[in-house]
Amino acid sequence: MTDFIAGFFAPWIICGFILVLHLALPAQRTAGYVRDDLTGKLLEYRLNGLLVLLVLMVLWVVFGFTGILAWDWLYSHRWPGLIGSAVLGLILSFAEVLSGWPTGRSFVADLYFGRRMNRQFFNSRVDAKMFLYLLGAAMLGLNLLSFTAHHLVQFGSAFSPGVVLYCILFFWFLVEYLFFERVHLYTYDIFAERVGFKLVWGCFTFYPYFYLIGLWAVADLPDPGTPWWLLVIFAAIFFTGWGLARGANMQKYHFKTRPERSFLGFMKPGTLADGRNTLLCSGFWGVSRHVNYLGEILEAIGLTLLLGYPARWLLWLYPLYYVFLLFTRERADERRCAAKYGELWEEYVERVPRRIIPWIY
Ligand code: NDP
Repeated sequence: MTDFIAGFFAPWIICGFILVLHLALPAQRTAGYVRDDLTGKLLEYRLNGLLVLLVLMVLWVVFGFTGILAWDWLYSHRWPGLIGSAVLGLILSFAEVLSGWPTGRSFVADLYFGRRMNRQFFNSRVDAKMFLYLLGAAMLGLNLLSFTAHHLVQFGSAFSPGVVLYCILFFWFLVEYLFFERVHLYTYDIFAERVGFKLVWGCFTFYPYFYLIGLWAVADLPDPGTPWWLLVIFAAIFFTGWGLARGANMQKYHFKTRPERSFLGFMKPGTLADGRNTLLCSGFWGVSRHVNYLGEILEAIGLTLLLGYPARWLLWLYPLYYVFLLFTRERADERRCAAKYGELWEEYVERVPRRIIPWIY
């Protein structure tokens, strides 16, 4: 019972600690893309995700070495940890939604999607959305380390190289997200979504526990014996996806912030304009209208394959979730862009007819 309570409240304590770190550590201050509803000014953000993650990793290593906490403590307490995170996420989702004015939709819709767009706390030192993404990434990072440690402790020298590679590449995914935190101020979640259960519970529970469902399923299994050259191919699938997602995001970010400059010093932006608005139609944004989504899905497929055991359906839930999320989001973004850009968007669709997969879809 004591173990259950410790596991249940561990995420509460870690999340509180992440908040303290986010508030206390130095941060880069930057203006974002979204405007304050009241003042019309660009919202300001404090970003220090990478530093927060680094401090947490150092503490994890120190605690492991000194024996204060076993390396795989979060793994051995994963079920109470998951339940504790889910309960905390639910409480905070209700608190957030009940403190806002109804939007006119049903309560359930308000609860799920949220009522308010942008929430900043502690004298604007903490932006709810950016903090939630940091929290999810940091908790996922700790879980990844702990689950991988469990595998290594259990199998010793007979460990699965695929599991270790999975952990390294997933860390790459987290670290590079936090390294480019400012770029994500220009993404759909930040400018088009509200703060509700989807975001709050999603970052407290879904992100740190579901994203590594593949590792959850295989941490206890022996090395499947995947040949090294297949591991290289799977890692290459991951990095191809990363190149597409990061490349497209960076090209758009450069275009929105410094439209006159060439991307990477040589990719001059090919554009479509109607006098009021301008859209990119070259580079990543010329092969399909959301090649970044394809990239994200390839990253998830590469990670899943690295774990071995491709016949286990549980492992495929992670890439399948991306397919569902991003194919749906592409439709929603398409509607938003068609309404915002009108005939210019139609021209873009004619110029770049594929939605996500070049030449195919
Ligand atoms: P996008 O980065 O594609 O952003 C869409 C917006 O970009 C549009 O609403 C429009 O906004 C602008 N835009 C679209 N086409 C053009 C164009 N041709 N030229 C200029 N601007 C354009 O999508 P998201 O924000 O959804 O995703 C950002 C990243 O986050 C992606 O890589 C995605 O895969 C990733 N992601 C990751 C998730 C994860 O869990 N790992 C979950 C969801 C997304 P505007 O009004 O500003 O012009």
